[in-house]
Amino acid sequence: MKKISLLGATGSIGQQTLDVLKQHPDQFQLASMSFGSNIELGRKAIADFSPKLVAVNDFEAYTLLKQEFPQVTFTYGVEGLIEAATIPDAEIVVNAVVGSVGLLPTLKAIECKKTIALANKETLVTAGHLVTEHAKKYGVDLLPVDSEHSAIFQCLQGENVKSLERLIVTASGGSFRDKKREELAEVTVEEALNHPNWSMGAKITIDSATMMNKGLEVIEAHWLFDLPYEKIEVLLHKESIVHSMAEFHDRSVIAQLGSPDMKVPIQYALSYPERLPLQSTKQLNLWEIGELHFGKADFERYRCLQFAYDSGKIGGTMPTVLNAANEEAVGAFLKGHIKFLQIEDFIENSLSKHSVIPNPDLQIIQEVDIETRQFVQSLYS
Ligand code: NAD
Ligand code: MG
Repeated sequence: MKKISLLGATGSIGQQTLDVLKQHPDQFQLASMSFGSNIELGRKAIADFSPKLVAVNDFEAYTLLKQEFPQVTFTYGVEGLIEAATIPDAEIVVNAVVGSVGLLPTLKAIECKKTIALANKETLVTAGHLVTEHAKKYGVDLLPVDSEHSAIFQCLQGENVKSLERLIVTASGGSFRDKKREELAEVTVEEALNHPNWSMGAKITIDSATMMNKGLEVIEAHWLFDLPYEKIEVLLHKESIVHSMAEFHDRSVIAQLGSPDMKVPIQYALSYPERLPLQSTKQLNLWEIGELHFGKADFERYRCLQFAYDSGKIGGTMPTVLNAANEEAVGAFLKGHIKFLQIEDFIENSLSKHSVIPNPDLQIIQEVDIETRQFVQSLYS
């Protein structure tokens, strides 16, 4: 029986993680969980899985649930998130919160020698060097949950990573993949949230529409697989069936395929190195799909992709700025404060005014994160 700590239990990945746990009650047990403010889903998860400890970010929800479930220990805020991530019972922490708020609990969980199943890509973008160094120091596995990285991780099983030539990260193109750049100026939040292949949280759905999601994933791949940016490529693939590929020196390319269903990579991270059945996921019948399409990534159409490669290559605090500016700009777009293309403009502005600090420690990362958010806010308020 593996005991799990789940951060972000009410989100898209969180709910699908609970679904995987439900399908294997003899394999997994929920030791602790956290969520932001969705009290209905939070309440249901507590009733269904009886975790020992629950961290809530919203004070009202925290007070209410504390009275409803006297047998459960409740904690609050970022401190609470850390407590949930470091609970002694759990051996795996699934980090499925959205944004750089996931960084501190990840570092603390690593210090407690927990295996990290990482969906929260912002953690690796904002401070990839700290997280990977920490994982090495404490001998902890960082297991990818993101479908592309899980695919690559699966392709690399039994291989010598020294014979890797290149990683090919596939991209669906998001909600506006059939629109020209000129058509993006007036798109609405509702249109942007309508992803053709995946049902996901709001922030990552907007990131998919700007292609920043793929940019963040390139940086995530750089840290997870320790490859230079020149060896990580993005390939447009609108069906989301080939989840990513690894090319080796001998020109052999290994791909991982499957129905687009996040429960597959979530479960693989939980069951690794074993595989468990997953009845709820549709079998892949390529004859039903008929054709798969591939295209070259266009860096002018998708400027965020270029920003991400550039920031990643510069390194230091630049990816921290990229991530914080993006989180803030996407938040502003979702609230209706700015237009879609202003997301790119605000990120570009933030990057161009930043003086890079090489090899930043945690405190510098946190300062740069806050400063960048304040700068972006000043651009529209
Ligand atoms: P979501 O918005 O659906 O859920 C986010 C969760 O985090 C919620 O439970 C929310 O309550 C919690 N949360 C948000 N802010 C918090 C805070 N300040 N303190 C504590 N908890 C907080 O997001 P999601 O789509 O599930 O994505 C989660 C992460 O996984 C993101 O980093 C995303 O990029 C990554 N990811 C998601 C998918 C997907 O299919 N949804 C796929 C790959 C990677
Ligand atoms: Mg992904």
